[in-house]
Amino acid sequence: MSNHNVIDENIASALEKLMQVQRLLLWDITKKEKLSPIQIQFLIYLGKYPPEYCKVSQMAREFDLTKATVSDALNSLEDKGYVKKIREADDKRSHVVSLTRKGIQTGKRIHGWQDVLVSHIQKFPMDRKEQFITVLMDLIQSLYREGVIHVARMCITCENFVPGENGTHHCILTDRYLKDSELSIGCAHHRNREAI
Ligand code: SF4
Repeated sequence: MSNHNVIDENIASALEKLMQVQRLLLWDITKKEKLSPIQIQFLIYLGKYPPEYCKVSQMAREFDLTKATVSDALNSLEDKGYVKKIREADDKRSHVVSLTRKGIQTGKRIHGWQDVLVSHIQKFPMDRKEQFITVLMDLIQSLYREGVIHVARMCITCENFVPGENGTHHCILTDRYLKDSELSIGCAHHRNREAI
């Protein structure tokens, strides 16, 4: 018999239900674009992140996949004309992957794939959303610390982040003061903080 509280199990079940919603939304896009879910996610990722993150090894870490799985998906995207690979000058075995014109156009088309979910989140009052996002980020950080996931690109794990009270968190890189509601998940400028 598990010694977890009912609410802990219920929260995990609720997250699973939300993942099901995301799978359904992603599935709609994959049918329209005739690409697999991971290929769609790679196109979105490549459109968002700078070249140093757009290599097979880095993407394998980001998505918690094997390098072989990432390579296969990228090779298929290359064959279909969505991405191109450029060999790195200082390491001939490594490639940087970038979107072609077709990849960029597709990326723009699929950008709002989560809009249905976002429109429902929008209806909640700001104070509840701030509490919710704070708990979610703490949960992601906890899973990251335990090694369940290997990348957690959030303000609270970033070396540029100086925590404060709501409204006085500071991003040193951009010199912006941030409220809880403005903390970032998936920031392209994130730099991993040692010993989080
Ligand atoms: S660089 Fe990005 S992730 Fe890091 S503190 Fe600034 S906004 Fe947050």
